Amino acid sequence: MGHRVLVVEDEEDIAFPLVRTLEREGYDVGWVDSGQKALDELAGRSADVVILDLGLPDMDGLEVCKDARAAGFEGAIMIVTARAGELDRVVGLDYGADDYLAKPFGLAELQARVRALLRRTGAGSAHDEPDGGLRIDVDARRVYAGDVEVPLTGKEFDVLSILAANKDKVVSRGRLMADVWDENWYGSTKTLDVTIGRLRQKLESVGVTERVVAVRGVGFRLEAPAPDA
Ligand code: CA
Repeated sequence: MGHRVLVVEDEEDIAFPLVRTLEREGYDVGWVDSGQKALDELAGRSADVVILDLGLPDMDGLEVCKDARAAGFEGAIMIVTARAGELDRVVGLDYGADDYLAKPFGLAELQARVRALLRRTGAGSAHDEPDGGLRIDVDARRVYAGDVEVPLTGKEFDVLSILAANKDKVVSRGRLMADVWDENWYGSTKTLDVTIGRLRQKLESVGVTERVVAVRGVGFRLEAPAPDA
């Protein structure tokens, strides 16, 4: 039997394709539609990964996350939310979650995230470890980690391709803002930070070894992994 994945989602339209996709991947999938059922299920039978909706009918998903950790749950927790702006608020707060994903998400991205979580928690087997080398096909505007395509938005792709073209060098915030957003764009640079945050998360989730590093007060740099890794 494959790894156990528990889907906690009250909307059938979202839960069903998710469960089907994960089952096809070979996981042993459980599905519950409320926070209390999730906690009961985990108390009886643990899981390697929990995919946890924030907007549940009975409890806030973040409470479920906290309670599961307090009860000793040690598997990975991925929080999924459709609430606009919610993702930016909860990322960085320590509720014991391992990953976050905004709805709507592609099933391919979800699968990549689940695989990455299993690797990180040590539950994954060695054979599904991808080659994490970053490859950018500029003409096709597609990015790969080994053989796995990384689904990026247009802005994420633009930021990454500029950083990759200047690998190991710092690219200033001003240049990224001017090149990726238009020159008449005078909004806050929070948009850039959010884009960088999502880009990092996506690269990490598929095991890309290069890192997007923030250089305080200047900009960002794409770095190759340490050679002794
Ligand atoms: Ca919901």
